Amino acid sequence: MANRKTLIKSARIIDPASEVDRVGDLLLADGKVARIGDHITEYDAQVIEADGLIVCPGLIDIHVHFREPGDENEETIATGSAAAVAGGFTSVACMPNTSPALDDEAAIEFVYRQASRAGLCNVYPIGAVTKGREGKELAEMGQMVRAGAVGFSDDGSGVASTGTMLRALQYIRMFNRPILQHCEDPDASAGGVMNGGEMAARLGLPGIDPIAEELMLQRDLTLVRETGARYHACHISTVRAVELVRQAKAAGLPVTAEVCVHHLLLTEDECATYDTNFKVNPPLRTRDDVVACLNGVADGTIDALVTDHAPHGIQEKELEFLYAPFGIIGLETALPLVAKALIAPGLLAWPALIERLTVGPARVLSLNKGTLSPGADADVTLIDPNLQWTIDAGQFKSKSKNCPFDGRPVTGRAVTTIVGGEVKHQFGRVTAP
Ligand SMILES: [Zn+2]
Ligand SMILES: [Zn+2]
Repeated sequence: MANRKTLIKSARIIDPASEVDRVGDLLLADGKVARIGDHITEYDAQVIEADGLIVCPGLIDIHVHFREPGDENEETIATGSAAAVAGGFTSVACMPNTSPALDDEAAIEFVYRQASRAGLCNVYPIGAVTKGREGKELAEMGQMVRAGAVGFSDDGSGVASTGTMLRALQYIRMFNRPILQHCEDPDASAGGVMNGGEMAARLGLPGIDPIAEELMLQRDLTLVRETGARYHACHISTVRAVELVRQAKAAGLPVTAEVCVHHLLLTEDECATYDTNFKVNPPLRTRDDVVACLNGVADGTIDALVTDHAPHGIQEKELEFLYAPFGIIGLETALPLVAKALIAPGLLAWPALIERLTVGPARVLSLNKGTLSPGADADVTLIDPNLQWTIDAGQFKSKSKNCPFDGRPVTGRAVTTIVGGEVKHQFGRVTAP
C-alpha cells in the first residue's frame, strides 16, 4: 500500500478543466486531490520530486479492446490495465466485441470485477447496442446502464440497419448515455482491407472507400437530429467525416467525436510494405485525411484522442495482408506519438493536448474524471516531455506486440501513473524517499 499522502513537488501542473497551467506542488491525500500550492510541506507524505515534469490529470482512453472474455491469449483486463498505466492512462473504456459480447448486466459486472481484481486502472465497460452485436435485436441497455455501462456500441462493426439505429437512439435517450458508432457502411466497404483509391489499385488490394465511413455518419446525424440522443463518432478518419462532425456541432447537435493516434501520423502509403501492422479499420488514409484529422483535433471538432488498442496474436498478424485481422495496440505508445503529431509541428500546446486526453474524453462518457480540482479522484500522470526513448514492443506490458511503431525513436513519456492516490507505474528518474 502506498502512503495515504503523496506530495508532488515543483511540477508544471496542467489541469485544462480548471484552466491551471503553473509551476507548483500538488498534494494528494486519501485517494483525492487535496490542493495545489507553492512550497507545500507535509511531514508524513511520500514526496515525488517532479522538477521538469508535467503533472496532469490521469490520461483517459475511451476506446480500447481488452479481449476478455474469449481471447485471453491476446489480452486480458489485467494485462490491458498494465499496458494502460504504463502508458500514463488511469481510465479506459473497453469495447464490447468480446466472445461472448458484453451485451447484458452480468457481462458488465464481470468487467468491473476483473478490473478491480487487476487493481491497476479504472476500466469502464461499454455495452453492446444489439444482442450478440448481430445488428438485429436491441440489447437490454437499461439493465446494463444500471450495472454501470457508460455507453453503447457494436464496435468492430457499425449498426447498419437504419431502423435498429433509430430505435437504439430513441431508447438510450432516457438514460442520457451516448451511442458510440463505428461508422462503416458494410455494403460500401465489403471485402476491403485498406483505403480505397489509387494506392489500393496499385497494390492489388480491395479498398474501403471513404464513402463507407461518411455514408453511415451522415445517416446517423440525420437520426440524431430527429431523436436528440447523444451520439459519438468513433475513430473518424476522412476529410469529409471531420467536416460532417464540425457542421453537426455548429448546428448544436449532441455529437462528439474521436480520432485514433495512428490516423494522425500514418498514411495508406505504409500499406505498400504489406506489413499487416498497418492494417487497421478504418484504414490508414491519405495525407489530406491526416491533415483534416490534425486540424479537427486542433480546432476542437475532435473531443478525444484514442488508441483503439486492438491486440492480436503474432500468428494471426503474420497472415497475408488480405487475411490478417484489423487492428494495432496503442496504449503504451500513444503519448509520445500524439506529442509528435500535434506538439512538434506547433498545432497544439501541452494544455490543449492534455485536454483531448483527459477532460475531453471524460465528458464524452460523463465520467467524473479528468481534473485536478480539489476533491477530485487522485488519478494523476507525470510526464517527462523531453525524455527520448525508442519504442520496443518486446518491453510492452500488453500481451500482444502488433505495433507499427516498433523501433521508432520518440520523445516524451509517462514516468509515473497514480490511480486513486496509489502509484501504479513508475519509470526512470522519479525518486521517493
Ligand atoms: Zn471500430
Ligand atoms: Zn475499436
